Amino acid sequence: MRAAVLHEHRRPFAIEEVDLAPPGQGEVEVRLHASGVCRSDWSTVTGDTPSPLPAVLGHEGAGVVERVGPGVGSVEPGPVRLVRAGVILRQDRHDRELDIS
Ligand SMILES: [Zn+2]
Repeated sequence: MRAAVLHEHRRPFAIEEVDLAPPGQGEVEVRLHASGVCRSDWSTVTGDTPSPLPAVLGHEGAGVVERVGPGVGSVEPGPVRLVRAGVILRQDRHDRELDIS
């Protein structure tokens, strides 16, 4: 997959091909259709938010669940989902955002 990868703080990130391991315990693989780089990501770029490098930026987006790992019972492959900080969200019938991670 292509991703925005940061190798050094305060340096430009690069769009690169990266390999993904299959989803592990409690993890879900989402093929993102759209993603943004937000203020939190910028804090990672500047180093104001400590994080190990290299880091993949863009933790908010929308995409399709492709695979689920062991122990995931509330999400299944298919529909478009919203993703925030590695958490999958959905809307219930009252349009409330639910955290179903
Ligand atoms: Zn954000």
